[in-house]
Parts: sequence; C-alpha cells; structure tokens
Amino acid sequence: MARVSPILAILPTSAGKSLLFQFPATLGLIGVTIVIEPLLSLLQDQLSRAKTLGISSAIFNARSPLDSARLVFTTLETFLGLDFRNYINRLRITQQLDWVIIDECHIILNRKESFRKNLGRLGEVVDLKTQLVLLTATLPPRYQASLLRGLFLDPNRTKIYRANTARPNIRYSIQVFRAKTDVFRIIQGELDLSESDQALIYTRTRDQARELSKVLGYSVYYSNRPNKEKILREFLEGKIQVLITTSSLSYGVDRPSIRIIIHLGLPYRLYDYAQETGRAGRDNKRSNAILLLPLDPPTKATSLGPHPTQEDIFEYDIIQRYISNTCRRAILDSYLDGLEEKSCKEEVIKCDFCSLEESKWYIPYIRLLLTISRSFRAF
Ligand SMILES: [Zn+2]
Repeated sequence: MARVSPILAILPTSAGKSLLFQFPATLGLIGVTIVIEPLLSLLQDQLSRAKTLGISSAIFNARSPLDSARLVFTTLETFLGLDFRNYINRLRITQQLDWVIIDECHIILNRKESFRKNLGRLGEVVDLKTQLVLLTATLPPRYQASLLRGLFLDPNRTKIYRANTARPNIRYSIQVFRAKTDVFRIIQGELDLSESDQALIYTRTRDQARELSKVLGYSVYYSNRPNKEKILREFLEGKIQVLITTSSLSYGVDRPSIRIIIHLGLPYRLYDYAQETGRAGRDNKRSNAILLLPLDPPTKATSLGPHPTQEDIFEYDIIQRYISNTCRRAILDSYLDGLEEKSCKEEVIKCDFCSLEESKWYIPYIRLLLTISRSFRAF
C-alpha cells in the first residue's frame, strides 16, 4: 500500500515529536530513517536521546560507514551535499530508505535568508520517492501555505495533522515600567529561582542586552559576541542559570529546567514571542512568560520602519492585541492554532488578565463592607 506523503505534523513540544521516528526504530521494523535537523547542536542532542533508547543511530559522516544505523541524523547543509546524495541513492537502490523527516521545519519561516534558501533547495533537489514527514511545534495556520510553498510541496497533496500547541503550564503576563531602574527591580524580583531552575531574558537590541548584563551581572549572548558558543554550551549544560540574549538565540535551546522567560520591550513578531516563550516549562511544571513594556511604547511608524510588508503590519497589529486589555492566551491560541476562545480555561494556568478578572468578584463585596462600616461610623 502506498504511504501518505508528504505529511506535515504540528504537535506541541511536550507531545514527544521525536517519538514519531524513535518508536518505529526501536521496534526494528523499518529500514533507515533520515532526520534533518536545522542545527548541529540539535543533532547531538537527538543522537544522545536515541542512544539512550538503545536505537542504532548515527550522525552522518561521509568518512564513516553507517550500514547498521537505523536512524541517521544530518544537518540541512550536509543533506544537500554530494556525499549524502550518494548515500541516499545507495539506500534507495537497496530499498532501505524508509522515511525522511525534517524536524523543526518552521525554520523556513525564519527571516535569515540562508535558512530559507537551503530549505528551498531541498524541495528542488530531492525527488524522494519515499515518505517525507515535516515536524514542527510552531506553525500558525496563517503561515502554513507559505511553509509548503517554500518547500515546493503541493498543499492539496500534503496530509496535515494539527494538534493544539498551547502551553497550559505557562503563565503569560505583562508588566509596565517607567524607568530603567524599574526594569532592573522587576527582573530581580521575578528571578526567584531554585538552584536547578534557569531563566532567559530577551532584549530587542544587543546594546540593551549588554547594558542589562553589566547592571545585573548575568551572562550575555548575541550574534557576534566573542565565545558565544561557549556561553550557549554552558547554559545548555546548566552551568549558567540566567542568560540575557537577543533573538539571535534561535534554535537548539531545549532545557526542561527553563522556568522563566522575560522579554524586555515589544517583540517584533508574535511568532517570535510564541517560539521564545515556548522554551519555558518543557518539563510541564508551572513556568512564567513575562513581557516588560515601557509606559510610552514606540509608535506604529517607528516600530514598522519605512517599508513594512503585509506580514509586518499583521504581526504588529496582533502584538498590539496581545498587550491590550484581553486574555493573552486567547490571542496566542487564535494565532497559533486558529482557536476561538475568550479567556483562559479552568485546566490552564491563567494569564494576568484572566487572574485579575477572576479576582474582581470580591470588589462589589468589599464595596458593600465599606458601605456597612461607614454606616456604622455614622451612628
Ligand atoms: Zn487569559
């Protein structure tokens, strides 16, 4: 029976996406599964997880034979190279190639052109004749078509599985500051971490990140920082508890112990905000996503610059809705999963807006008590 291909699966981070390819390999029922990861650090992470499960697995290396490996991990760049194509052809001739999986496929929506270009090439050069599975935890319905277009896949022939990607254990909240000193105070107040917890603080610019690092004394990461790989490695190993970073810390951060994510200033896109806050609470424990906003935010014109695209305007408007007087989760759920909700449900950790709304029940009661006490005094 012909297998459905391609498949696009949108699953939450805690749903065990990796099990999709680890499980069949554990049973030993299949041929070779190739998993394309966007980053080298993700490759090593996936490899050690597969090894822990006792799966015969390897990272592709043109110089080492891979004959026994059932799971073969590779980066996109290697996948597109001649050595890998020779390897794939060998597997196809011997009918051993079973699946090709593109993990974190949403990177095609990344604004860094090199990612887009390479993924576009993937669509051009691979005539797979095998099952292709695209996996992601963040794909707003709005961007689904552009992702498939970018990979040269026909939306009508792609089987799409979409699960709810909301994160019930994250408390979304917003705090407003007047001066820089408020920022330092709020951050220090929020970072009440136990020894094993970690936190990420995102800033809009490199200068902000450096200044914050200087004042608060935490490590800092940005794209052209010297030794940035070392800093990231130490954070991923748990040696750094709090890391201040720009949005250049994009992929490969999968630490279950991240308990707090703080954003200083309005994120450029809700898409980035959803992804970055999605790094909190991967162990399903209660976690916090806090957005710190200046009392006087930049105007629409300043934020968008001189030539905004339709996407820029959409993203700006939806961020404005997120920070307005409304349920944060309702905006995120509608944006990420196309759900229509008005407030946080019972089974999730309530956002700041819903918590406040909930607490308002006693306001009329307090008013009544005050009236009664005043009437007592009148006697
Ligand atoms: Zn809410």
